[in-house]
Amino acid sequence: MTESDRVSRMSRDEFIALQNERLPRAVAYAYERVPFYRQAFDDIGLTPGDIRSLDDLHRIPFTYKSDIQAAFPYGLCAVEPNQIARVHSSSGSTGNPISTCYTAKDMDDWAVCMARNLEVAGVTPDDVCQIAFRYTLFTGAFGHHLGAERLGATVIPTSSGLTERQIQVMQAFNTTVLHCTPSYALVIAEKAEEMGLGPDDIPLRIGLHGAEPTSAGLRDELQARLGYRVARDYGLTELGGPGVSVECEAQDGYHINEDYFYPEIVDPTSGEPLPEGEIGEIVFTTLVKEGNPVLRYRTRDLAGLTRETCSCGRTLARHGLILGRTDDMLIYGGVNFFPSQVEAVLTGFAELAPHYLIRLSGDGRRESVHVHVEPQHDWWVSCSDGGAGLCELVQGRLRDQVGFRMKVEIAEPFSLERSEGKTKRVFDER
Ligand code: ADP
Ligand code: ZN
Repeated sequence: MTESDRVSRMSRDEFIALQNERLPRAVAYAYERVPFYRQAFDDIGLTPGDIRSLDDLHRIPFTYKSDIQAAFPYGLCAVEPNQIARVHSSSGSTGNPISTCYTAKDMDDWAVCMARNLEVAGVTPDDVCQIAFRYTLFTGAFGHHLGAERLGATVIPTSSGLTERQIQVMQAFNTTVLHCTPSYALVIAEKAEEMGLGPDDIPLRIGLHGAEPTSAGLRDELQARLGYRVARDYGLTELGGPGVSVECEAQDGYHINEDYFYPEIVDPTSGEPLPEGEIGEIVFTTLVKEGNPVLRYRTRDLAGLTRETCSCGRTLARHGLILGRTDDMLIYGGVNFFPSQVEAVLTGFAELAPHYLIRLSGDGRRESVHVHVEPQHDWWVSCSDGGAGLCELVQGRLRDQVGFRMKVEIAEPFSLERSEGKTKRVFDER
């Protein structure tokens, strides 16, 4: 049994003991080294000594994304500049950039967390891992690269793009694990088909996809088209990138590396902790981070949490599918909805390809939501009514799901924009 296997199966009491030992140290460390945290504690008369165990965690004020943005680049850094071994920055899909820094020990911890994630996902040292996340300031590629290397797998750092070449590399080197965003996996699937290759011609057995949501429908479609099993992973720049959680073979929630990242679920509005199982905003506290420790960080990502043992036998707490970000939530005519609800409906139609975009327009008095969908090529060529019947059906299903009417428009096959990284699917022009 490997060390990460041992940790993944510790008893609840062992986890609590470890977290109770680490939390007070993490709090004292942040208070002593980061003026922002010292100020936040002093402001409410809290001292690090007041945080003796997990039971006291709720007394610590939250850290928000705006705090991290305001501190760009080194405002929340806890070490001297010459102790920083690596810097990464967010892809900036929402708002101003944020950055995170790592000490040499943080880099080692990152490798441990990512190697464990790969192991949980079913990757072994015998696998050949093709890293098709983009190698940039973004954490994705480097995190996956580090984990695969630490696990002892073979690493092929293709980065993203040059899709035909990606597939040739896969075939030449017998790639068994593909690491990239789900959006890019879809581009690869399309290209493979264009090259006349079916699932059996592609040696992949696992797709490790993260950095953006993958609905169950999209996951199933990718699995069918690329002939592999998808394991979704989750992380965010504020916590050092990927390595926070990942799905195991059971595909029943993401196992959290809770010896490094302590999870809570809170009500997004009141900030009150929610009971296990309820959906709310995930909040993380880093337990051993040196470079950029964060206390009670409001991720804005929505999911539920369970500490029940998984059918795979691992005891690591799990969060469910990320249903959306609190800042992804759209409000139309007083009704709240998430793009993920639209995606769930669209992926239920075999006639549609999983590419879409949502456009909100209007001037405050008259607003409208248009959903642009793309048909599957084969269905489209045999369709006699220009897609009108299908649009009607999709519109009805969407109305049932979100409670109001969206106008569905059909685009030509392969006409909506493809992405090698994260896809932007919502355009709010109001
Ligand atoms: P940003 O996209 O904000 O520029 P990051 O690159 O750090 O910054 O992305 C982190 C965010 O990406 C997470 O907070 C989450 O919203 C999203 N994300 C990452 N992995 C997943 C996943 N598996 N499912 C859904 N969302 C994910
Ligand atoms: Zn499991």
